Amino acid sequence: MIPLFKVAMSEEAPDRVAEVLRCGQLEHGPRVEEFEAALSERLGNPLVTAVNCGTSGLHLALSLVAGQYGGSGGAHEDTGEVLATPLTFEGTNWPILAHGMRIRWVDVDPETLNMDLDDLERKISPSTKAIMVVHWLGYPVDLDRLRGIVDRAERRLGFRPPVIEDCAQAWGATYRGLPLGNHGNTCVYSFQAIKLLTCGGGGLVVLPEEELHRRAVLRRWFGIDRAADRVHGDYDVPEWGFRFPMNDTAAAVGLANLDIVDPLLARHRENAAHYDKELAGVPGVELTERADDREPSFWAYPLKVEDRDAFTRKLAERGIMTSLISRRNDEHTCVAPYRSELPGLDRIQDRIIYVPVGWWLTEEDRSHIVDVIRSGW
Ligand SMILES: *Cc1c(COP(=O)(O)O)cnc(C)c1O
Repeated sequence: MIPLFKVAMSEEAPDRVAEVLRCGQLEHGPRVEEFEAALSERLGNPLVTAVNCGTSGLHLALSLVAGQYGGSGGAHEDTGEVLATPLTFEGTNWPILAHGMRIRWVDVDPETLNMDLDDLERKISPSTKAIMVVHWLGYPVDLDRLRGIVDRAERRLGFRPPVIEDCAQAWGATYRGLPLGNHGNTCVYSFQAIKLLTCGGGGLVVLPEEELHRRAVLRRWFGIDRAADRVHGDYDVPEWGFRFPMNDTAAAVGLANLDIVDPLLARHRENAAHYDKELAGVPGVELTERADDREPSFWAYPLKVEDRDAFTRKLAERGIMTSLISRRNDEHTCVAPYRSELPGLDRIQDRIIYVPVGWWLTEEDRSHIVDVIRSGW
């Protein structure tokens, strides 16, 4: 079976991990700092902090940006709402619930599978605490347009709703020539096992300004300054924090994998370009948008197909794995109170399917996948 995902592990990773285990500094140590420095350099932004997973990063990001803004203002307690997309992994959205905020679903743009920015603009209100966008499959959201929407909201509401970008699937993706993490928002990457760059569990929060970065570093670890004098107990916690730092074994794995990731990413893009060409116009298949101002990472390759059950059956019979990756988040019982009309997502939800596109495909695999799809189902 040609898998939809595969772990990309450098051959050097086991030795690097063994080194950490032998040296005895197992948790937050020098390798985390080395990894952060290497990631900063790749991203071109020094304001990063490494965490134990992407979901922790989203908790941290929300705790930093939501609560200090907001226009709810009245005498009653309104924890406010976060505008979010239902077409994502649950890890994006459950942190909103954990922070006691309501979710207001924004529709999905059938062309990009990202948040529908027109619907977003309509839904920004005095209760908006934050906007959570996802670069789904690593296809970047139109960040300039998003900034324009937030600018207009700020003029209308008198406060600026902060934006969090879930970049979990987007390692290597760029928007207008810059890696995600440089467009004025708080961003979160994931280095979970099947993400393109993996630590076997890890994440990165990328901040847009020094003050937020300073607070993120503190809130990552109980709110305690690591340089503080804990021997004499001579320190204070002004703002409580979590227990989220990355550990040195994970950082060692990440450092080894950072050395191999670029050619792998290039393979994802080549394979996607091949599909873009070979699957365009095939009956029963619709492709998603490609804008030339952004370079996606293609964590998986999305298609909208007619008769999806028959499509997945046919591909499975021919040894090709497909998946829906996750259920539309708004249909889960735990978010039943937030259900709303989402006609864009309704229109495509029975047609969306993801096919393998990653570095592990051989040329034969790739041609086989194209041939099977072209032959109909
Ligand atoms: C993987 C993923 C997450 C969660 O990341 P973890 O590192 O597993 O916590 C969040 N959002 C999206 C879109 C993801 O794909």
